[in-house]
Amino acid sequence: MTKRIYFYTFGCKVNQVEIDHLKKKALSAGYIISGDLNNADIVVINSCTVTDKADKKYHSFIRKIKKNYPDITIVTTGCLPAIDKNIEDSDIIVPNEQKENLFYYINTKDSGKHADNTLINEKNAVGSSSKTRAFIKIQDGCDSYCSYCIIPFARGNSRSRDLQSIKAEFEEKLRKGYKEIVLVGIHIGNYGKDTDVSFSDLVEELVNIPGDFRIRLSSIEVCEIDDKLIEIFEKYPNKICRHFHIPIQSATDKILSFMNRNYTVYEFTQTIKKIRSRLGDVNIGTDVIVGFPSETKEDFEHTVNNLYHMNFGYIHVFPYSERKGTKAAEMKDAVPVKIRKERAKFLRDVSEDLKFSYSKEYFGQKVRVLVESDGKGLTDSYLTVNLLNHAEKNTFVIAHIIGINIDGSLIGKVSYDQ
Ligand code: SF4
Repeated sequence: MTKRIYFYTFGCKVNQVEIDHLKKKALSAGYIISGDLNNADIVVINSCTVTDKADKKYHSFIRKIKKNYPDITIVTTGCLPAIDKNIEDSDIIVPNEQKENLFYYINTKDSGKHADNTLINEKNAVGSSSKTRAFIKIQDGCDSYCSYCIIPFARGNSRSRDLQSIKAEFEEKLRKGYKEIVLVGIHIGNYGKDTDVSFSDLVEELVNIPGDFRIRLSSIEVCEIDDKLIEIFEKYPNKICRHFHIPIQSATDKILSFMNRNYTVYEFTQTIKKIRSRLGDVNIGTDVIVGFPSETKEDFEHTVNNLYHMNFGYIHVFPYSERKGTKAAEMKDAVPVKIRKERAKFLRDVSEDLKFSYSKEYFGQKVRVLVESDGKGLTDSYLTVNLLNHAEKNTFVIAHIIGINIDGSLIGKVSYDQ
């Protein structure tokens, strides 16, 4: 009997992209994808181990499954098995680097259980062409060993995907009708370290593919933004989104060095100045960890000041969370959790201010928007636009910005007399 698999993923965008890929493979391997655990024979869990909290979430999910669905076969893959060798409650463990062979593991080891009828068809499972945005994974792993991060241990060193296979998937997404393609990976700027095609070469190849689309880069490290990449942005303004997400993590050199980040605040500032002087009003967002061990009140204030001056369009704020097995988890001078939370709240308010200030600049402008649903679209600079008049989903339109909401989203009227 055909078996039904329920897929569940924890963690980052890469894990989500991988689970979509596995769903596709499951369908071609003859499985049915179930949207409901009650009707599934097998559950495939793509785990995350980025913090101790992530591990706890995984274990609590497994406990619930064991209790409520004692007959289901539990398959665990993702980052956790590389770090935790004792995932005793899983029937099948598939190492991250063996994900491609997941169904071989299941076929040879699974014993199979019941079946019923709620399922998701292929369209829902892998993303339909009526959606506007698709994600393509271009590399895996990381060579950086930031002191707070377990990822290089969980995913191994950086490995780049073959250029031709990326191009083939890119073209397939365009054929399916996607208008925005996001390049994702664990550390996308590491792309090409193990091949003779650099990250900028890859982006140049992709922007030159004919079609009506735009490319968005996911998070990229500051040291990996080279002149060639900036030139591509200059040369193909409609093909690549004027949006950078560059994690700074802290804006004091002392904490950056404890974090084992390979830049100073000055170097970071110089790069974003260069980007702005060459590309104009790009939206630059960032990630910041607050309450890292030994971050004093003064360090935090210094960070906040610097972040204001850097004029980020938004900040994703993370209170520091220990991860067993990392250097940072062994460091002295831990900041009390209460203070971490207070700093995070403060910085989130700063982020709201910055976002509003950035959005305000759009007032009165005409901007190109990709319509994502009836009444909503996204600029290439990653701002949501609430559209007052009807516009066809999954098309690019020009919107005249006539208002800004308090959350920084824009209000626009589609302008047909461009
Ligand atoms: S760059 Fe640092 S934070 Fe990012 S995955 Fe690599 S080690 Fe982790």
